[in-house]
Amino acid sequence: MGSIAQVEPMTTARTLRGPFDYRLPQELRGGVVDVGSMLVVPFARRHVLGVVVGMAERSEVAEERLLAPLRALDDGPPALPVELVALAEWIAAEYCSTIARALTLVLPPGAARRLSGRKRRRTFVRTEHLPVGARRPEPPALTPAQERALRSLNAALDGRTFEQSLLQGVTGSGKTEIYLRVAASALAQGRGAIVLVPEIALTPQIVGRFQERFGETVAVLHSRLRPGERYEEWRRLRTGEARVCVGPRSAVFAPIERLGLIVVDEEHDASYKHEGDPRYDARDVAAQRARCSGALLLLGSATPRPESVRLAASAQSAGPAQPSRLLRLSARVDGRPLPDVRVLDMRGESAGLHPLTAQALAEVRAARGKAIVLLNRRGWSNFLSCRSCGRVWSCPQCDVSLVLHRHRGFLACHHCGHREPAPERCERCGSISVARHGAGTERVQHDLTAALDGDGRFPVFRLDADTVGGEPAGADPGMSKGPRAPGGIATLLRRFEAAESGVLIGTQMVAKGHDFPDVTLGVVLDADATLRFPDFRAEERTFALIAQLAGRVGRGSEGRVLVQSIAPEARAIVHASRHDSDGFLAGELERREALRYPPFSHLIRIVCSAVESAPARAAASALAASLQASLIDPGGAGRASIGGTADTAFGAGVLGPAALFRLRGQERQVLVVKAPERRPAVRAVGEAVRCVADDRAHRGVSFGVDVDPQ
Ligand code: ADP
Ligand code: ZN
Ligand code: ZN
Repeated sequence: MGSIAQVEPMTTARTLRGPFDYRLPQELRGGVVDVGSMLVVPFARRHVLGVVVGMAERSEVAEERLLAPLRALDDGPPALPVELVALAEWIAAEYCSTIARALTLVLPPGAARRLSGRKRRRTFVRTEHLPVGARRPEPPALTPAQERALRSLNAALDGRTFEQSLLQGVTGSGKTEIYLRVAASALAQGRGAIVLVPEIALTPQIVGRFQERFGETVAVLHSRLRPGERYEEWRRLRTGEARVCVGPRSAVFAPIERLGLIVVDEEHDASYKHEGDPRYDARDVAAQRARCSGALLLLGSATPRPESVRLAASAQSAGPAQPSRLLRLSARVDGRPLPDVRVLDMRGESAGLHPLTAQALAEVRAARGKAIVLLNRRGWSNFLSCRSCGRVWSCPQCDVSLVLHRHRGFLACHHCGHREPAPERCERCGSISVARHGAGTERVQHDLTAALDGDGRFPVFRLDADTVGGEPAGADPGMSKGPRAPGGIATLLRRFEAAESGVLIGTQMVAKGHDFPDVTLGVVLDADATLRFPDFRAEERTFALIAQLAGRVGRGSEGRVLVQSIAPEARAIVHASRHDSDGFLAGELERREALRYPPFSHLIRIVCSAVESAPARAAASALAASLQASLIDPGGAGRASIGGTADTAFGAGVLGPAALFRLRGQERQVLVVKAPERRPAVRAVGEAVRCVADDRAHRGVSFGVDVDPQ
């Protein structure tokens, strides 16, 4: 047993090069402190929390010069399982971050608070496993397709080595039942399971089904928990009292030992990417964790990502022994067909609703039915202009227009949160004629209520970040503490469910995994809104949005979907209207290959920001030159050119620099590195950024690195 603990102090400084050696006093030796232990250590004249990442017999620093930790935070076994310490190290390297920052992801809830406050020590006593499934309802008999999928997954689990499978099943095809069965198999082997879901509040049903099936052995980690409750759930997992964890992306760090299974439900969902530092992708972290634990990774979706499909298909063709499989459920369990999808051409239409949409809604109302309307734009109208002088109201901090929130009486920037009172008149010319352009969900709710609910018998419910509290951009949707009232989403969904008849209008939130059997009409307004994003995933997103909304419709009876679009021939829209996932994915993969987008490359996005544009541009150019030398042209052959698409025989390329719109008062320049392999590219980018950031010529410029941006 070592007498030296190698400790990472939990500081946010980017420049530190840890770990640092500490001499353990006698009482902390002999296994009391080990990898994963949390210590309070003296560091830079402060006392900070540190995590032990290694143990050693001796140090390069003379023993008498080494400091000793003040105390250990826990008695008994280390707070963190060794696997999670290793996982944090992997994340730091893979996402160009620091180990300290990555470790904060895996620490027990409230660890930082315990440093300053109470001195209570905690002990983890491992408990025996509880019996599983004693008084549970009988699970349904599987369909033949489910049987086949389960057999293959159980075989993968029995191998006890890393395997990855993709379960591609249309909405309502019984994927969740498969997750439950495979989790039961993992538990029967004495192993644990993690089930990742996009957002707990939007998918309360899946949590309920796990609890119903497995009882106390399920722990749920999410934001509505008070800190004490969260710690308690974490503790139950750490001790083995609970061995199944259901939660949003951060649940991938659940402290479960002997992990057998990680499920990623709705694997296409963008919320699996974390936008803080480290900008990790929970799907990749799940793959790494499964690899290290010899576990099965099961991705499930009706609209899987092209990346996942390609991986699964290539392993499949390489033979059955390959560690990846593609499993299909191509029909709904209840045998109902998917709803008819009709695309409505909005070119030449002046009203917000196509006449056929208006008619369909009126029919649903007459039949006392329910409809869901999706419009991916919050607020009343998305910009205002002066009819006399043409002035457009825009954010003082960002180069974007302000969105009118009429009911609350303000204009808001959806990028930085800036707010100002809604104008009565133009300050520039004094005109009181202010034009409102582009309807958002608030406006459509108002118009639909006026048109359809004169008698209060056809209520129009609205589900978006304004009615149920906002998700700050990039926050973990399940773990954020937004201003939202507790249970806001759940309450709203329950009201819609309980209503005899009515409409649910909202942003993409309305297309997530809800299961309302009596919805017979789905409407997508401005389906092109997501297509207009300057992003190579725009088509994939649009396809998924329409397909997912269609999945909410006709679950209990016949249903249909209307898609309003000014680009009715767009590939994503045409394929979605035919429920043709395979056709869409094949075309999408072809396009990605031609353009060398993921999965045919990895992207790293580097943003240089500064108050003035010149320094940001200078730093971005310096970075581009440096990356050109290290990444693309290490031998000096000079094949690539900066400033354009620069793909070379090596496969790596640099795009940009290009200007982004000003955000929070910062001028921004972006570079995108395309590389065949992630690790070496991340390393090269990390070095280049460090080098440019250290150069005094670029003082005042800050740098953000996003590996595999979403
Ligand atoms: P998905 O996750 O693919 O949307 P679910 O697993 O939620 O599908 O299944 C849809 C519905 O069908 C659920 O109500 C579920 O309880 C039910 N179900 C799933 N499998 C079966 C089965 N084999 N027999 C009967 N009902 C089933
Ligand atoms: Zn004006
Ligand atoms: Zn702004």
